[in-house]
Amino acid sequence: MDAIAAGYTIDLHTHSLRSDGALSPADVVKRAAARGVTIQALSDHDSLAGVAEASAAGRDLGVRIIPATELNTESEWGDAHVLGYFIDPADGSLEDRLRWLRENRGRRIELMVEKLNALGYPVELARVLEIAQGGALGRPHLAQALFEKGHVRSYDAAFDTLLAKDSPAYVERVGLTPTEAVTLIREHGGVPSLAHPGTVVGLDELLPKLVAVGLAGIEAYYGAHSPEMTARCLASARALGLVPTGGSDFHGRGEHGTDLGGVFVPPETIERLESRRGRA
Ligand code: AMP
Ligand code: FE
Ligand code: FE
Ligand code: ZN
Repeated sequence: MDAIAAGYTIDLHTHSLRSDGALSPADVVKRAAARGVTIQALSDHDSLAGVAEASAAGRDLGVRIIPATELNTESEWGDAHVLGYFIDPADGSLEDRLRWLRENRGRRIELMVEKLNALGYPVELARVLEIAQGGALGRPHLAQALFEKGHVRSYDAAFDTLLAKDSPAYVERVGLTPTEAVTLIREHGGVPSLAHPGTVVGLDELLPKLVAVGLAGIEAYYGAHSPEMTARCLASARALGLVPTGGSDFHGRGEHGTDLGGVFVPPETIERLESRRGRA
């Protein structure tokens, strides 16, 4: 069902070319608007660079853009990604931290390119950079380069066989722990929510630790969640006083995944998140 038919007007998790999405910020907003979205968080990985362009497009198209970012972390907790809402793209000290994270992304991708070359899957760093078009570098750009070279049958196969954790070309991230990511968002006046909790290892143990440093939300509504996972997130939200958030995590890469506005997010979510600004 598409967003207009379903009436899904809020999408709090989207990516553009400023990180590993395939569309420009303006084009992501255009597509969201065409699908009935009226409130959209642009949540590029480690970057706020697309917010100004998205906001300008949003003004023309009647879409309210919430400035956001998604911080992918490194720890024993699996893929714990922290979304930060209502952060200020003009905050220079936050930008310094995000730049450090982006630089680390670049070094990590260089190391992965070296590994791929040594493994007999030659890709050129220059081509990976071209694919990324200046956005925060990530494994999706490598996946596309591998696919173009014919080393893998599909974008997803690149992850399955080479790029996923414990795969031959994987290199660990140098970055923040989940606790540090939540703290960073809070220190800069943002409202943190734990993204796609289904990818976290040890969720029930991690959540109270993150709540203690200011976690305010949990992404209960997410395309890849089973009904049971959504129910589990909603139960955790109730128990820990978290706001249930949700979004498509649209990247525009690969053939599947949720399209913009493809996930139900309750209308009161924005107000509830806003009420958590400035306090843990
Ligand atoms: P990175 O931040 O460079 O480690 O890349 C992580 C990003 O890769 C995530 O944000 C997703 O966009 C994408 N990703 C992670 N795992 C997969 C997978 N198994 N298949 C396709 N895309 C994935
Ligand atoms: Fe991504
Ligand atoms: Fe994520
Ligand atoms: Zn995401």
